[in-house]
Amino acid sequence: YPLSTLLVFDSSRNAIPVAWVITSSLTGQDIHKWVGSLAERLRTKDSRWRINAFLVDDPSFGFSAIRRNVKSKLLTCRDAFQCRVLLCVWHVRRSWIRSLLKTCCNIDVQREMFKHLGWILYSSRSVPNAMDAVQEFMEVFVDQSAFMDYFKSQWSPHIESWVSCIRSLPVAGPEPHAAIESYHRRLKYKLFNDQYANFWPRIDWLIHTLTTEFHSLYWLDQYIVETGYFSNLRDESFSTNAWYQALHIPDIDVILDEQNLQVAKVISQTDRNLAYTIWNPGSEFSLCDCHWSNLGNLCKHVIKVAMMCKNRQVARPLLAAQIYRQTLLSLLHNPPDDPVVLDHAILCTTRLQQDIKGWEDLSNSGLLQQLPPELNSQMADNTLLFARSH
Ligand SMILES: [Zn+2]
Repeated sequence: YPLSTLLVFDSSRNAIPVAWVITSSLTGQDIHKWVGSLAERLRTKDSRWRINAFLVDDPSFGFSAIRRNVKSKLLTCRDAFQCRVLLCVWHVRRSWIRSLLKTCCNIDVQREMFKHLGWILYSSRSVPNAMDAVQEFMEVFVDQSAFMDYFKSQWSPHIESWVSCIRSLPVAGPEPHAAIESYHRRLKYKLFNDQYANFWPRIDWLIHTLTTEFHSLYWLDQYIVETGYFSNLRDESFSTNAWYQALHIPDIDVILDEQNLQVAKVISQTDRNLAYTIWNPGSEFSLCDCHWSNLGNLCKHVIKVAMMCKNRQVARPLLAAQIYRQTLLSLLHNPPDDPVVLDHAILCTTRLQQDIKGWEDLSNSGLLQQLPPELNSQMADNTLLFARSH
């Protein structure tokens, strides 16, 4: 029985669980059964409460072979919560890097492979067919047979759906990934403790543990923060998620050469003589040479560099903006004859434009990356062109 969590971020960038959903099958297939009830429950609790964005990381959400089904699920989320839907690739990143760490012992090869894996996911622009990018990856790293076996069995069948999903949805930046990862580690530590092994098949035990022991960790932390009592009992992991820690690294401690974005450096906050190296900066597929990153986790150095890249607008161009521009241009060059098709195309394009606008609004509050300036102006130009033509 898959477990889904609805998380919110507090002022310390901690991901706080506010609802759990346990279903009898993959949640992506059954999302319409519970998402409406959840939205209704939230409104009953506090009608002023508004969800800013819905991050979706359920593979089956994007894995549906039938495009219409994917859209109907998107519409389900949008309609229920009246908010935009973003794609979260955190668990893809985590699965890939942890498998690389297990199966490939050469650290330089790990970094190169990880970078290439990122290219596959974002291959929609440079390589029209995602499977061509996969094929190229497999040829370049053919000697890494253990990882290739894993990749072929676990990911190859789904990679086109992922790329397709990335073409349709804005992708959340790496900062919330750090908070989600912190939540995930705490949840696994609590649930997968060997002393509970006999209870794992029991759903009543899962519900009991989540709603009593696990939930109370969050109440206790909030109480400690608000009152200052029992501070010696505080679980340090609440104040050590990489997103929160990254906010405390001064910009001056980051060495970022905008002419050469292969690597960046971050000076250690505890040893000023030490500098960590970050490969592929500004991407979700960055790696750092610190201990925490070497364990397959997102570290504060990677997040800090991603934030700097965003602020200086040197990160990779937003994929959704590229797709939006391509869609508009193809519509302008080949306007559909059928008015129904035209109406549908205008609706889809307007929705994508709203997503991108909302994405920028979120970015201003520090959650996501900003659009590069040239794309901003192109997008504005295209919007005007579109309005004039129709
Ligand atoms: Zn690091």
